[in-house]
Amino acid sequence: MHFPADSKSVSSAPRIDRVRHELKWRLLTVASVVQLTPGMLRINLSGEDLSDFRSLSPDDHVKIFVPAPPGEPERRDYTPRRYDALSRTLTIDFAVHDAGAATRWALQARPGDRLEVAGPRGSAVVSPDVERWLLIGDETALPATGRRIEEAAAGTRITSVVAVSGPEEHQKFETRAELIALWAHRPLSQAADPEALLAAVKTIGLEPETFVWIAAEAAVTRAIRAHLVEKHCYPLSWTKASRYWVMGHADARETFD
Ligand SMILES: Cc1cc2nc3c(=O)[nH]c(=O)nc-3n(C[C@H](O)[C@H](O)[C@H](O)COP(=O)(O)OP(=O)(O)OC[C@H]3O[C@@H](n4cnc5c(N)ncnc54)[C@H](O)[C@@H]3O)c2cc1C
Repeated sequence: MHFPADSKSVSSAPRIDRVRHELKWRLLTVASVVQLTPGMLRINLSGEDLSDFRSLSPDDHVKIFVPAPPGEPERRDYTPRRYDALSRTLTIDFAVHDAGAATRWALQARPGDRLEVAGPRGSAVVSPDVERWLLIGDETALPATGRRIEEAAAGTRITSVVAVSGPEEHQKFETRAELIALWAHRPLSQAADPEALLAAVKTIGLEPETFVWIAAEAAVTRAIRAHLVEKHCYPLSWTKASRYWVMGHADARETFD
C-alpha cells in the first residue's frame, strides 16, 4: 500500500453529523424475495408504517425482530439497502450463511410474511465535501457499500474492496462516481481470516483525505484497521471501522471510531 509521505499531518478531520431519529417500530409485509446472487437474498418490505421512514447514511442500520423458538424474538442489525418513499418499500439484503435466526427467517420468507423492524435510531452523515472513499468489507458490508456507491455524487472517487466466496457473488452498481471495484476471494468458512482482504488492500494507493470505511467480521476489521492506522499511521479521523459480526457468536457487533 502506498501512503502519503506524512499521513499524520495531511489534513483536518472530515465533518461527521450525527443525526438522531425518533425510534419507531414498524410492522412490515414481505412484498418480494429476490435471489440476487447464490449467497445474497434481497427482501423487499412494504407497509404504511414506512410513511415517515428516514435513513440518511448508507451505513445506517435497522433492528429486525425474527422468531426464535422458544421465547422472545431475536434481534439483528441490517442495513436499509434502499428505501423507495413512493411505494413505501424498504429493501434489505441478507448474506446467507449456515446458521442464525435472521438467516433462517430470510431463507423461509415469502410474500405476505410479516417482519417487525425498528430504527434507524441515528445516522452518522459524513460531509458531502469528502471526495474520496475506500470501502473495505465482506458480504455483510455489501449492502452499505452498494448504497454508498449508488448514492455518491458525480466527481466522487471510490475504491471498493469486498471479500466474497467467488465471482458469482460480485455485484454491479449504477453510479455517478468514478468507481474502482476490487474483489477478494476466500471461502465463506474463512470469513474470519483477514489474509485475502488484507492482500487486496495492500495493492491500493491510498491518497490523503480518503475516507476509509471498514465493516466485516471482527478479526478481519481489527486486522485491516491495525494495518492502516497502527502500522501506517493513517489518521483515525478519516477512518470508520465496524465489526459487523463475530465468528462463533450470535448477534455480535462493535464500532471502533
Ligand atoms: C450495522 C450493521 C449492519 C449490518 N448489515 C447487514 C446487512 O445488510 N446484511 C447482512 O447480511 N448482514 C448485515 N450485518 C451482519 C448481521 O447482523 C450478522 O451477520 C448477524 O449475526 C446475522 O444474524 P443471524 O441470525 O443470521 O446469525 P447469528 O445468530 O447472529 O449468528 C449465528 C452464527 O453464525 C455466524 N455468522 C453470523 N453472520 C455470519 C455471516 N455473515 N457469515 C458467516 N457466518 C456468520 C456467527 O458467528 C454465529 O456463529 C450487519 C451488522 C451490523 C452491525
